[in-house]
Amino acid sequence: ALLQASAARQAPGGLETAVQHYERLEAERRLTRALREDIVAGRLEVVFQPKVRLNTSAPVGLEALCRWTGPDGKPVPPSVFIPLAERHGLIAELGDRVLESVLRSLARWNEGHLNTLPVAVNFSAAQFKRPDVVARVEAALARHRVPAHLVELELTESILLEDFDAAVTTLQGLRHLGLTLSIDDFGTGYSSLAYMRRLPVSCIKIDRSFVADLCTDDRTRHVVATVVSLAHRFGMHCVAEGVETFDQVQVLMELGCDQAQGYFFARPLDTEALAPILAGRTPWVEVVMAPSRPME
Ligand code: C2E
Ligand code: MG
Ligand code: MG
Ligand code: MG
Repeated sequence: ALLQASAARQAPGGLETAVQHYERLEAERRLTRALREDIVAGRLEVVFQPKVRLNTSAPVGLEALCRWTGPDGKPVPPSVFIPLAERHGLIAELGDRVLESVLRSLARWNEGHLNTLPVAVNFSAAQFKRPDVVARVEAALARHRVPAHLVELELTESILLEDFDAAVTTLQGLRHLGLTLSIDDFGTGYSSLAYMRRLPVSCIKIDRSFVADLCTDDRTRHVVATVVSLAHRFGMHCVAEGVETFDQVQVLMELGCDQAQGYFFARPLDTEALAPILAGRTPWVEVVMAPSRPME
């Protein structure tokens, strides 16, 4: 209902009536209340999408992605509940829970001597801007006895907006813990090639909007080529997001992009689907580029 309501509001010429306006606010209020309850009760779930090396399609890591089943029993897409959590001050709490959940999984996999891959967690600006963020992350790692090199934080360019120097200091603090840092959705924010050289991160994730236009638009291909070569020059590697076709894979390989993530290789998997893979009982080839992949 919320989706429809906001679609109506955005529809061309779709000026909402006062009644529609209040219905929309009420629907958002209900959904937010349900979200808050489920965050606090630990009812949000986490799925893991593999990231692969482009020239071998060997898995090199996983990205943790949050999932929520709404009050009507249907999954609510992150494109709806993440902005909702941001608007209502719930995103830091949500992110803390996701990080905790990922650390629990990593600890379990590590203790079971499973073939653990590093896991990337989306880290919101609200989490990043807390004055004690470095100490918090350090304490969480220690609590779960997870080595920092198994955890990657994905940050968006929004963390750089207000105070660039403060952001760099925080990035250095997190990096000093041994975490891997990457810039997510690169190219969609206020990115400037000039600031790239000052960022203490090891990875740039090229947003999927660039990947989508890669094979049809020469200019997009040039932009991606420039980002890849600059990143390499600054000692970073590049991940292409949202890779869906073989043509995209070919172009990305030509451009020297290092890694990729997308439905072409694998969809997000839940922990149950992941366990036999990490245990080595199910070969990765059955997951990566498998014709029928487990659904999100
Ligand atoms: P993101 O961090 O850029 O994550 C990648 C998104 O692209 C995921 O969407 C993933 O399912 C989707 N994706 C992967 N491969 C493909 C593909 O080949 N084609 C297409 N069309 N999409 C693909 P998802 O899971 O819906 O998440 C959307 C966004 O929500 C994420 O974008 C991230 O910004 C945010 N998000 C998800 N989980 C969390 C979280 O725990 N904390 C925070 N702060 N944000 C989260
Ligand atoms: Mg991400
Ligand atoms: Mg991304
Ligand atoms: Mg993205």
